[in-house]
Amino acid sequence: MSRFADLFMGMLGAAPKKPEVVSERVQTIMFRKYEDKDRYIKEKMHARDHHLVSHKWRNRRWAVLLAVNLLFVFSFWLDIQILEGALTASRFVGFHLIDLNSALQVMLAHKHIIVNLFIGTFTVFLIWVLLGGRTFCSWVCPYHLLAEWAEALHLKLVEKKLVTDHEFHRGTRTVFWLLFALLAIVTGYTVFETLSPTGILSRALIYGPGLALGWVGLLLVFEIVYSRRAWCRYVCPIGLTYGAVGSLSPLRVSFHVEHCFHEGDCRKVCLVPHVLDVTVKGRASEESMSLGPDCTRCGLCVDVCPTGALRYEVKGLSQLL
Ligand code: SF4
Ligand code: SF4
Repeated sequence: MSRFADLFMGMLGAAPKKPEVVSERVQTIMFRKYEDKDRYIKEKMHARDHHLVSHKWRNRRWAVLLAVNLLFVFSFWLDIQILEGALTASRFVGFHLIDLNSALQVMLAHKHIIVNLFIGTFTVFLIWVLLGGRTFCSWVCPYHLLAEWAEALHLKLVEKKLVTDHEFHRGTRTVFWLLFALLAIVTGYTVFETLSPTGILSRALIYGPGLALGWVGLLLVFEIVYSRRAWCRYVCPIGLTYGAVGSLSPLRVSFHVEHCFHEGDCRKVCLVPHVLDVTVKGRASEESMSLGPDCTRCGLCVDVCPTGALRYEVKGLSQLL
């Protein structure tokens, strides 16, 4: 199977595989890294000691996420008509934007292609092909921000041994995607939209709170006391839909094996650590590799890596940032 197909299957729930062929360049890099253990350990300690802990990408991302969601709020309350509607369907300075997953659910519920939805959906498709599909999750979705804070609390409680983290099979999300599609077809309603914390929060911010916020609260409590990032990891079909779109995107986070000490700090902070399997010793087949489409381009691994082995890049262009 090609690497693209492997990464796509990984997004659907398959376990990452060891590479069958490792390039000569990677073999040379690995040999050089480990031929002198003392030098290797010294270099590793030096990199750790001189790493300035930064939250550069996280701060930029939070600022963008808040700005987008507040633009909806101000457009409504001040009637400035820049970004009207909510995340599921909106109008940006006159251009219609329809969330891809919502459009899909509506068409499945109505059982035909709705031409009026087509332009708005296509515009959004193009935007997320360019920016990286799941970039929507970490840079726009309001639930992501709350879930990130809940995750920090969950990890503190786990560290103090007050709660235990429970993992599920990642393929559960693919099953939920199919289930919500089937429910839309059978019932004729967009069942997922009533449960989606993304839509609930977006509408609550703009039009005021409602009872549905109780459901979002329950999800967050579940994630704090039982399972880390459970909704985004194991349920939300939006993540999978945008992940599929992101598989075409030129904007990626890429891994450079030469600079990596394989200690796994990146995997500890990542929402979808399976995409960072290439950072495990012996798993990289090429000197530089793009991460899979499930990566949300959140930048947490870029911030945490002490040696700059993970970077944002635009495929086909040289290093961007
Ligand atoms: S997976 Fe769903 S809820 Fe989570 S960040 Fe993405 S869109 Fe938001
Ligand atoms: S691989 Fe890095 S950028 Fe991608 S989701 Fe994980 S932490 Fe974020």
